[in-house]
Amino acid sequence: YIELMDISKSYNKQRNVLNGIDLQIEKGEFFVLVGPSGSGKSTLLRMIAGLEEISGGTLKISEKIVNHLPPKDRNLSMVFQNYALYPHLTVEQNILFGLNAQKVDREIQQKRLEETAQMMGLNELLKRKPRELSGGQRQRVALARAVVSEAPLCLMDEPLSNLDAKLRANMRIEIRRLQKRLGLTMVYVTHDQVEAMTMGDRIMVLNDGIIQQVGEPIDLYNKPSNLFVATFIGSPK
Ligand code: ATP
Ligand code: MG
Repeated sequence: YIELMDISKSYNKQRNVLNGIDLQIEKGEFFVLVGPSGSGKSTLLRMIAGLEEISGGTLKISEKIVNHLPPKDRNLSMVFQNYALYPHLTVEQNILFGLNAQKVDREIQQKRLEETAQMMGLNELLKRKPRELSGGQRQRVALARAVVSEAPLCLMDEPLSNLDAKLRANMRIEIRRLQKRLGLTMVYVTHDQVEAMTMGDRIMVLNDGIIQQVGEPIDLYNKPSNLFVATFIGSPK
């Protein structure tokens, strides 16, 4: 579904932060990206989203070369590290913003809002403004806003980083369930090994802009291709 061919990225003509990335992500796959801080995870996700120019290589989504296609034409939803909400809109209006812009039928909007609010535990908060929410609540609104669109491709950059352990465990299950139910193709960035191992159909380990290994969680664990992967995934010696 997503195809990256020899993708590279440098900011301001400096040293490459991504190098020769070759990768295919299948339709309906839950694909997890892990790696240390600064390894290029967000950069890669932002390029897929169309928020960052690609310095070299070819990016295809759904068989189409999209290197220069603006984000709004890529038919995807995203949740990013700085999950900016519209401060003057209520939670409900924030969640429905995209559907409204697409002029989706009111009844359908209402139905999806109810489902999503229920799933994200936001029922009590729908009339509030973002400034009246905690960090974790805001993060859940951002998640709700993304999943309500039901776009076939969803990109998430550490979407659970602000949540406490219990909520995080619940949300892992909810996100995975939703992704399965809708058959979404998911690209999911996380720092959390447990999250990667439990959620991912496949995991890619990135270090310093270079792919270290791509594979199913069990393979990365049992057959890490180098010491970096072994250490990062926590394989037994
Ligand atoms: P983290 O886990 O901390 O979020 P990351 O893997 O998402 O890290 P990126 O944000 O992709 O890392 O950054 C990769 C490299 O690119 C870093 O060295 C970073 O300093 C650099 N970088 C990111 N954005 C820019 C930018 N707008 N201009 C210049 N350099 C940038
Ligand atoms: Mg990042």
